[in-house]
Amino acid sequence: MRDRFDVVIAGAGPAGAQCARDVAERDYDVLVLETEPEDEFPRQSNKSTAGTFPSMMASFGIPDDVVMNYTDSVVLESPNDHYVREQTGAVLEFADFKRFLVRDGRERGATYRFGSRVSAPIVDEGEVVGVRYDGDEEVYADVVIDATGPAAPLAKKLGVSDLQRDHQAIGVEYEFEGIDVDHDDYGDLTDAMMLRLDHDLAPGGYSWIFHTGGDTAKVGLCYIQNDSHREYAKDGMGIDDYLEYWLDQDPRFDGAERLEGKQHRGSAHIQPPGDLSTDNFIAIGDTVPTIDPLWGEGIHKGMKSARAAAITVDAALTPDSRDTSAEKMSVYDELWHTEVAPRSRARLTLTELLYLVPNERYDQLMADLRAADDDVLQRANAGDKLAMARLLHLDDVPTLVKYARQRLSN
Ligand SMILES: Cc1cc2nc3c(=O)[nH]c(=O)nc-3n(C[C@H](O)[C@H](O)[C@H](O)COP(=O)(O)OP(=O)(O)OC[C@H]3O[C@@H](n4cnc5c(N)ncnc54)[C@H](O)[C@@H]3O)c2cc1C
Repeated sequence: MRDRFDVVIAGAGPAGAQCARDVAERDYDVLVLETEPEDEFPRQSNKSTAGTFPSMMASFGIPDDVVMNYTDSVVLESPNDHYVREQTGAVLEFADFKRFLVRDGRERGATYRFGSRVSAPIVDEGEVVGVRYDGDEEVYADVVIDATGPAAPLAKKLGVSDLQRDHQAIGVEYEFEGIDVDHDDYGDLTDAMMLRLDHDLAPGGYSWIFHTGGDTAKVGLCYIQNDSHREYAKDGMGIDDYLEYWLDQDPRFDGAERLEGKQHRGSAHIQPPGDLSTDNFIAIGDTVPTIDPLWGEGIHKGMKSARAAAITVDAALTPDSRDTSAEKMSVYDELWHTEVAPRSRARLTLTELLYLVPNERYDQLMADLRAADDDVLQRANAGDKLAMARLLHLDDVPTLVKYARQRLSN
């Protein structure tokens, strides 16, 4: 007898573990293979700042006990200014959140095998029929889902996902105590998630302080190693050097101490998605990649892609005669483009422009944001080109030309 399930998911990140919850809830046999051992889970995969919003918490039934701190505002900082937007959010303890998703999935009937590294799809007559893991172990399924994040061992081999190195954003973060979250020279970061645009500190990217209560916070930065990064980069400095540089420069960190073992690092690709599915196969979460390009919100987006995959699986497996052909799986592609990440290309353009402009433009942007009404902001954030154009100035023409040249040369 072959080891067989209705659905096999590789990876127990937010996307894979959420997909297992949804598929198990509909009473299908689902197996999740996770490379890390259970007693240390999550170890290397404990990578996220895990700032999120009530829409995610409510849609996916996430309990309060994985929340480190509820926040009231999002603050954008430029080198000499800042802008505050009232918006309820939650900074999660990512490890607790991941463990909750696994526990809850098991309660709904999902099977987990930890310490199980997926290496390749099993292909029969050109179609995926299962996966190989832990060397020569094999498991078979009607539908296989790759949710391994940027590793993507199945999607890459099947030519579904085309994750490119020069679009890979890297990030690093530490948790601290002793931070002055309400320093006189800066905006008040009490119960806030702050994102800072400043090429001196994070060339071609951004840095952040997410308040986790009292005098503690998560402090990190990220960037893509592309032309924009190289233009503003300092010779010989890597991502850890930039974080040290910021910690040395900024008085809010005077006397702050790193919390032991509280280090997070990882990567995600900021690029348009390739194909999303094929016969008997779907890619979800950062494997696609689904992460929002602008501010790196990957948890909610990944979980939405997981739900879209579960809906597709349900529609394909419910009829007496199961149909998991590429055509049936393409329901997922449609849901992804309409529900999960609509206008993803426009948002990508906005992102590329944002990280291309010089530091002075960031100060101007803060003033523009204060002057613009909420509706324009919300629409620009959602990728509405007219609203985006209203935030542009005549001075932006050189940046637009530079952007057009880069696009043409790619
Ligand atoms: C520093 C940093 C800060 C971030 N901050 C935020 C934030 O504040 N808010 C937000 O929304 N998003 C944030 N993100 C992004 C977010 O964490 C990701 O988008 C999200 O975790 C993607 O989920 P996923 O399930 O697709 O993939 P992952 O989280 O990458 O999960 C993949 C899982 O697959 C497992 N795996 C990998 N390879 C294999 C294999 N071969 N076989 C079996 N299992 C495998 C991994 O161990 C892991 O458990 C941040 C990311 C980083 C790096």
